[in-house]
Amino acid sequence: MKILVVNCGSSSLKYQLIDSVTEKALAVGICERIGIDGRLVHTPAGGEKIKMDADMKDHEAAIKYVLDALTNSEYGVIKSLDEIGAVGHRVVHGGEKFASSTVITEEVIAGIEECNDLAPLHNPANLIGIRACQNLIPGVPMVAVFDTAFHQTMPQKAYLYGLPYEYYSNYKIRRYGFHGTSHSFVAKRAVQLLGLDPNNSKVIVCHLGNGSSVTAVLNGKSVDTSMGLTPLEGLIMGTRSGSIDPAIIEYLMNKENMTLEQVMEVLNKKSGVLGLSGISSDFRDLEDATALGNEKAILAVDVFNYHVAKTIGSYVAAMNGVDAIVFTAGLGENDKAVRKGTVSYLGYLGVTLNEENNNTRGKEIELSTPDSKVKVYIIPTNEELAIARETVELLA
Ligand code: AMP
Repeated sequence: MKILVVNCGSSSLKYQLIDSVTEKALAVGICERIGIDGRLVHTPAGGEKIKMDADMKDHEAAIKYVLDALTNSEYGVIKSLDEIGAVGHRVVHGGEKFASSTVITEEVIAGIEECNDLAPLHNPANLIGIRACQNLIPGVPMVAVFDTAFHQTMPQKAYLYGLPYEYYSNYKIRRYGFHGTSHSFVAKRAVQLLGLDPNNSKVIVCHLGNGSSVTAVLNGKSVDTSMGLTPLEGLIMGTRSGSIDPAIIEYLMNKENMTLEQVMEVLNKKSGVLGLSGISSDFRDLEDATALGNEKAILAVDVFNYHVAKTIGSYVAAMNGVDAIVFTAGLGENDKAVRKGTVSYLGYLGVTLNEENNNTRGKEIELSTPDSKVKVYIIPTNEELAIARETVELLA
């Protein structure tokens, strides 16, 4: 079966057409600047990248361009839309309603809508993508795969904040966690790769990219994760502050005469390693600046690594041990300095790094030496493949 995987953002839409038998992407692409003007970048497997300006007044128009590109006689990869067996949609927030992926029905759409408040920038865009596919390829079964679902196994002690309980019961204010599809995919692969007993395994997954989170996976289930009600909590990220003392918000409003919205903008877009370094949110730029001896770049990366290592330490406590620590996503897969820096704080766990293997980029490899007490790996994530697998599994 060929599965169209759709990941709708507020003004962008990423897609892949995946063959569920070979698990290979037949085409990948992205629509950008939806609602502004529109641009499609489409790459058929083994073919040239096609870039075109396109009139994308909304997501439905964007999906129409995607379907046209997929069936185009020159750079398409299928003859007709009938070849699309199912659509898998990434949905950011499933609240407490969705603890697993689900076949999309009107009731499910209403349920996703109920979670809009929890992810006001993301869920409405995801819903628009779902509606657009319903209109353009009616009758094709669709599945929603939630970023939050994998973390629904967290115990109360991990997901409750120290707030009056009625805020949880009335408004569902709690830790939800994100990147669940990635954490689940990578943790499963780690268990398989290391030959661990799935029912007796302790894996810590470090999904480090523009947005970063760490998850404790005990016996295949998420038992704690660093992102919270929103993806702002937890680690220091590219532009996000991660966890801070909440009193800083009022303090900053007074000191800088800022509105709440302005402070939130700073926390989301101007903080993290960008804010600390004053250089960039991209670690490649920080690496260049570090090589030139820029002290703020060195500091920003060290603060980042330290926070990752501290979170790992807290999850070793949460699981009373750890078998494997896995790095994934843009930074985790590519940035040897971040991996080395993070692992340098883990000597107390008996972790030792194989420096040569740590030079690897984007490939599955063991990073620990044979005598390391805890195994450390790079396992590339593939959220689109994970969504395609879930879609096939649910429709079988
Ligand atoms: P992601 O959000 O998973 O796409 O990760 C994006 C981040 O990964 C970028 O901001 C970079 O900081 C980092 N990254 C991607 N490729 C590399 C690379 N080759 N070397 C170092 N960092 C990289």
